[in-house]
Amino acid sequence: MSGVPILEIVDLHAAYGRIEVLRGVDLVVPKGAVMALLGPNGAGKSTLVKVISGQKKQTSGDIHLGGVHVKASGPEELARLGLCTIPEGRSVFPNLTVEENLLLMSYAGVPAEAVLETAFAYFPRLKERRKQLAGTMSGGEQQMVAMSRALASDPALLLLDELSMGLAPLIVDELYETVGRITETGVSILCIEQFARTALKISDYAAVMSGGRVVATGEPGEILETMSDVILGGAA
Ligand code: ATP
Repeated sequence: MSGVPILEIVDLHAAYGRIEVLRGVDLVVPKGAVMALLGPNGAGKSTLVKVISGQKKQTSGDIHLGGVHVKASGPEELARLGLCTIPEGRSVFPNLTVEENLLLMSYAGVPAEAVLETAFAYFPRLKERRKQLAGTMSGGEQQMVAMSRALASDPALLLLDELSMGLAPLIVDELYETVGRITETGVSILCIEQFARTALKISDYAAVMSGGRVVATGEPGEILETMSDVILGGAA
């Protein structure tokens, strides 16, 4: 792996009470790359996302975001450094329309026109549904709204936690096809995913977690070949 890392994690530990679930995670995401973070249920992937995004404190270890040490940073500072997280499950406001959900970003200082333009360019369907209440959209469409909001913040690193959660395979493929297009703009992406094959298709690198550690990193083909028993585990 070459290039300046957008994210570097060194010997990261985290626990729930006395139970340690991250047990020395080491991970490097090169700038501009898409990295799939794979692994079985309970491996610690979501916990890692929580620690990176400032929702949970590590017990020890270091995180560098774009070269900045972010050990004690809260979500605001992380956002200023260009981190944007799309958490597991859709994070839309169900009683606001699609357009209102998107325009919430304009309160964060992004011009309204730019927010809508970006959203509709990636997801033309949102333009057709702009007046619909977000809560009445399908799961996939809600995920499109969540992704559009994230893109409006012009992130340096996008953390996607289980984009496919509860969605039909066809819509998952469509969302990942868009993730592939997003990466062409130079955004770095760390994408946590159960559907390993789908995520690997659009990834430059993959890391595999098991038992609270990263146990393998490499190029998608290599990971698929050597770690298929760990990453496929029933899901495609
Ligand atoms: P999945 O794909 O099933 O979400 P994961 O790889 O994301 O799995 P985590 O959700 O990070 O794994 O969970 C790692 C371990 O931490 C699991 O054993 C889980 O039961 C435990 N865990 C997660 N959240 C909590 C919590 N809030 N309190 C206590 N234990 C937790």
